[in-house]
Amino acid sequence: MESNDMIIVFYGELGTKGRNIMDFIHLLGKNIQFALKDFRQLKIEVHKDHTYILLNGTPYADVADKLTKIPGIASFALARNVERTIDSIGAEASRLYQEEGKKTFKIETKRADKEFPIHSDVVSRQVGAYVLRHNPDSKVDVHHPELLIEVYIRLEGAFVYASKEKGMGGYPLGIAGKTLTLLSGGIDSPVAAYLMMKRGVKVEAIHFAAPPYTSEAVITKIHDLLHVLNGIQPDIKLYVVPFTDLERKIYEVAGPSYCVTVMRRMMIRIAEGIAYRHNDLCLSGGESIGQVASQTLYSLKVIEEVSTLPFFRPLATYDKTEIIDLAKKIGTYDISIRPYEDCCTIFQLKDPVTHPSHDVVAELESKFDYKTMVHDCIKNTKAEHITLEESEEF
Ligand code: ATP
Ligand code: MG
Repeated sequence: MESNDMIIVFYGELGTKGRNIMDFIHLLGKNIQFALKDFRQLKIEVHKDHTYILLNGTPYADVADKLTKIPGIASFALARNVERTIDSIGAEASRLYQEEGKKTFKIETKRADKEFPIHSDVVSRQVGAYVLRHNPDSKVDVHHPELLIEVYIRLEGAFVYASKEKGMGGYPLGIAGKTLTLLSGGIDSPVAAYLMMKRGVKVEAIHFAAPPYTSEAVITKIHDLLHVLNGIQPDIKLYVVPFTDLERKIYEVAGPSYCVTVMRRMMIRIAEGIAYRHNDLCLSGGESIGQVASQTLYSLKVIEEVSTLPFFRPLATYDKTEIIDLAKKIGTYDISIRPYEDCCTIFQLKDPVTHPSHDVVAELESKFDYKTMVHDCIKNTKAEHITLEESEEF
């Protein structure tokens, strides 16, 4: 590791946000500083075009691992800051060429410092010539190079790098407000939470627990899932709703076919009560169109009638296999597939309706004083913060 090794962070989509661009960059810079706070040697410089992270001996792989979990980073590259001469740039390009073990290459140069006396194209040609001279087997291919070596000329030096790593993309976490996301412990809902975070939306989670029908293991599972998501959002507030009495009542009133429809409507009413109290701007969840009876468009229409906040379902158009692939990639899959009993397995819902009728639902809900029960659920909800370090009682 050389003392002039650094990482260049590329912002991607932030560039389209016009006047708010500096808010984006400051927030992203803050998030990067926070994610990397334990690496004491790093020097982080947040600029309008890129962020530069001087490694000062810190292993690249450790920092790279953190960077892949920060929303708003499009890509990043390990670079070396060398003197602004053709010989220095050429020597570094040549070293990268040898390190990568490829045959054809291309040099691409950009100048942030427009006063730099040599035009970008000329720098590229001269550096290319240097690499060719020092590597007899090498060949330039300007259309389909196996290796693209980029040179970025700034006042403080020439940054040379060869390969970019993909970041998470999206927007900096916190730029888009907060969502209250319904987290069940299954495969889908943590992936939905991840996608909301990727879009810059901070997540608070709500879980409906129905002990003794659901076991304490579900809560452990929810904690473990949130600990994985803590890699992206270090502090996530979790609301656990005591749902047993209401759920029992719903089953009694609605029976097996309408139980899920009414239950989902009650969940939304409770979630909204909490969201309004805590400034969550929208709800979100892991539904995917047509996956199960309660997720047909007919069901979703009747369920969503009760919500006044926007309800986002980032997985609406995903196939189950795509959701599973993403769950594996973000590290929630193995936790999600631990066996557990959710509300439906306990109540043995044999024949949930796929085309629920608004009138039937309204009729069923008029049979009991659900408003008081919803209110009690909200009142007795417990909140805690799930953080990277520990889970503290709130
Ligand atoms: P998941 O795999 O996330 O459990 P699913 O395919 O099992 O989803 P459902 O059980 O129909 O689907 O639930 C649909 C969505 O409703 C979930 O993705 C989640 O957002 C929400 N949800 C369901 N049960 C609960 C619960 N007990 N607590 C909180 N949210 C829930
Ligand atoms: Mg589920």
